[in-house]
Formats: sequence, C-alpha cells, structure tokens
Amino acid sequence: MSNIKNFINGNFQNPINNNWIDNYNPSNGDVYGQIPNSSSEDVEEAFEAAKSAFSQWSQTTLEERSRILIRISELLEENLQRFAEAESIDNGKPLSLAKTVDIPRAASNFRFFGNAITQFASESHESVGQNAINYTLRQPIGVVGCISPWNLPLYLFTWKIAPALATGNCVVAKPSEVTPMTAYMLGEICNEAGLPSGVLNIVHGLGSSTGQAIIEHPGIKAISFTGGTATGAHIAKVAAPMFKKLSLELGGKNPNIIFADCDYDHMLATTVRSSFANQGQICLCGSRIFIEASIYDKFKADFIDKVKQLNVGHPSEKSTDIGALVSKPHLEKVKSYIEIAKAEGANILYGGKEVTVEGFEDGYYLQPTVIEVHNDECRVNQEEIFGPVVTLMPFTTEEEVLTMANKVKYGLSATLWTNNLTRTMKFSSKLEAGIVWVNTWMMRDLRTPFGGVKASGVGREGGFEALRFFTEPKNICIKY
Ligand code: NAD
Repeated sequence: MSNIKNFINGNFQNPINNNWIDNYNPSNGDVYGQIPNSSSEDVEEAFEAAKSAFSQWSQTTLEERSRILIRISELLEENLQRFAEAESIDNGKPLSLAKTVDIPRAASNFRFFGNAITQFASESHESVGQNAINYTLRQPIGVVGCISPWNLPLYLFTWKIAPALATGNCVVAKPSEVTPMTAYMLGEICNEAGLPSGVLNIVHGLGSSTGQAIIEHPGIKAISFTGGTATGAHIAKVAAPMFKKLSLELGGKNPNIIFADCDYDHMLATTVRSSFANQGQICLCGSRIFIEASIYDKFKADFIDKVKQLNVGHPSEKSTDIGALVSKPHLEKVKSYIEIAKAEGANILYGGKEVTVEGFEDGYYLQPTVIEVHNDECRVNQEEIFGPVVTLMPFTTEEEVLTMANKVKYGLSATLWTNNLTRTMKFSSKLEAGIVWVNTWMMRDLRTPFGGVKASGVGREGGFEALRFFTEPKNICIKY
C-alpha cells in the first residue's frame, strides 16, 4: 500500500483525526493506498506553520528564492521517471504523456517563476509640476491557499504554488483527493531543495472537509483555485464576505472551428489530439467541433478513420494512446452523457462503449467517442463532459458558426482553423474565450495570460499576471 501523509512545517504527518480515504488506481480499479482526510485542525496547523515562516520568507532575497525554485525544478527533472510513473498510476493517464507533458511542465513552472521573479518590476509615477513621486510596492499577501483538480495533477498544482512562493507568500495547498500522490512526493523535493520549513504546507483530503477549511480560514487571504464551475461558484460565495483575493480557473466547453481553407492534414492530426489527449480530460480540449459544410463528409470519414486507430490500453504500455478515466464515478458521468446524446436523437458515429483491457478488467476504460449532433443547443453540446467525447456539426456561414461557438455558458478557449487573415482577425476578437488558438492547439508560452471568461472563471494565471495576483500593490506618494 502507498499511504501518503500531510506535509506541514517540513514534516510528514498523519491527520490529527486519524481519518483516511481510499486512493484508487484507475487502470485496474484497486485501492492502492490511503490518504488523509484532513480536518480544520490540520488546516489550522498548516496555517500556523505558514504564518510563522512568512516573516522570514517574505524577506528572503529574490536571488535566494529564485535559486531554491530552480533547484526544485532540477530535482523534479532528475526524478522524472519516478514522478511520471506515480502520476500515471494515480490518474490513469498514459505514462508517455506524464513523462513528456505533466512532469516536465511541473518542472518548467518552478524554473519559469524562479526566473520571472528576478525580472518582475513595479511602476513609479512622477506627479509633474507637483514635486511629488508615487511608486508602487508589490508586496506578498501573506498566507495563501492553492487548490487544484485531478486532470493534470502536479502540473496545475505547481502552476499556482510556484508563483505564490516566488512572490514571497507562504502556502497552504490541497491537491485533488482523487490524485494526491505527486503532490505528496513534492514535499520531499522541497525539503531537499532547501525550501525553509512552513513555507509550503500540503494538506490532503476531500473538498467538503479539507478544501472547505482552507476557503473558510480567515487568515488565508487569497485563494487560487482550479476546478469545476460549481465548486468555483461555491468558493466565491464563501470567500467574498471575507474579501479574499480570488483567482478561479473553471470548466470549459471549447469550440474547434474548421474552415475548408485550412491546412487539412495538420488540422486533422491536431484535432485528434485536441479531442482525446489525456482521455479528453483537459479543460482546453476542443469538445465541440464545427466543420464547414463543404468538407463535412470528408472530415467525418477521415476523422473517424484516425480515431479508430487510437489504442485504448493500460497506461504503462508504450502503444497506449488513451489510458483509463480518472475514477469510477467520472466514468459513469461520461457514460451518462452518451446515453443523453442517444435520448436527444444524436448519432453515435464511433465509440460510446467501455473497453475491457486484458488483465485489467476492472479499470475505467472508455472508447474515444464521436457524436454527430443536429442542434447546437442539445445538452451534450452545452454541458461540460470532460471525457473522451466530442460532437460534430456542420456550418455554412461565418455568422452562424460564431453564434454557435459563443452560445454556451463557458468561455475558456477556442481553436480556429483557417488560412484567411481577415477571418482570423474577426474570429480572434469576437470569440468569447480567454485563449484563442489559430492553426494550432495547446501551444503554451508561460509568459502569456491564462484563464477564461463567463462561467470559465475570473482572473488570469501565467507570467506576470500570476505574480500580480499573488502580490498586493501599495502606492507610496512622496512630496518633496
Ligand atoms: P472539483 O471542482 O470537483 O475539484 C477541484 C478541487 O477543489 C479539488 O481539490 C477538490 O477537492 C476541491 N474542492 C471541492 N469542493 C471544495 C470546497 N467546498 N471547498 C474547497 N475546495 C473544494 O473539480 P475536479 O473534478 O477535480 O476537476 C475537473 C474540473 O476542473 C473540470 O470542470 C475542468 O474543466 C476544470 N479545470 C479547469 C482548468 C482551467 O484552467 N480552467 C484546468 C483544469 C481543470
């Protein structure tokens, strides 16, 4: 059994109430360990440790903070294989993906923010003619809370923690209870890298107990959250009366808009990836595919042909393209949407069935699923499924597809395939999304703002936006 512990004040410890929950391996359905279901007492201890560490950490030179963050990054790289295996077992994602995306990205998050903090600057404003100068101090907030989801476990956990630490805050963090393993392992790496005790505290447990204790804690002044829209709305309700600073990265239902004038082969290969990478469990996946009517039939045939070639299998197999879904309840939720699609009169063009992988019969495997819908307002086209399920629908005019693309409550990302510059400019400005990719997908530059509009969230992560979020601007006006 791989049991994990809380990481508080540099020590690994059991939850005070000795309350534990099971951790499942999605590839075979086995319970392979237990994790603390921490209570508000554990969160209080983590908070006290963070609070005590703050006076020193916030005064640590930028060079020293940068050196420690970059050391964490190097140690993650040195431990790539071990972390990738742990991530793949905990989440069900292909080991190859964890090794090439999740863990390298977690390492680059620490390296990026370790470097970015040495370049971060604040403004000064000379009040001309008034003999006065204003300058802005960017001060750390204090103790901040970071809460992350299960789909890209260490990658999204570190995406918050690295900028919070770089700016001099101390952190109480909670990974998803569904995928806690690599966050637990990060504690050891932080000790080895010389991160002072108490600067980062990691408490494990359910959202309703541990997560709730973090968002309710009056001393935790900011919450950076990534997860579902309903959870985000709940957090906003709890945090608003306490005037906490909030960054909410929430759900998506992203359009992938394909015009006939695009580079077809490149579009086709990328669309397979943007539909099914990580079992379709990436908030940026393009789950609503709109295709210009003149190439609809060709696209449909070619796309299904490629999807059929995707290999659903055990995450550790090199030949696996699609691993296991993260949990049994999630598998059930995704399957229920396939039933909803049938009831709504949509055509299941491919997939829709569970897959039995020999030797791992109790794992949570599902075929990549392609659904042809006739009405963009149907539930499978409006609600976030967050699994290996995409819908196809033809369009004839720019106006029609723009309206359909924007007619959902979400606004995280959008992908556009065209070689027409005027159309590119028009769609880029009119699509209701925080991120628009043109002729590519999920190409990331860590300096760019990351986040969504509408029900996809509030605030932006990434680059200096994250450093701004984790600091409080204070204006100093000096008259001379
Ligand atoms: P979730 O909202 O169920 O859980 C996310 C985290 O919040 C978990 O750690 C959970 O324990 C915690 N939590 C739950 N209830 C809480 C509460 N009352 N107080 C405090 N914390 C609480 O989401 P999930 O199922 O883990 O993740 C999937 C969702 O995340 C999808 O909707 C997906 O689109 C979204 N997501 C968004 C982004 C983005 O950048 N916008 C990235 C990845 C995932």
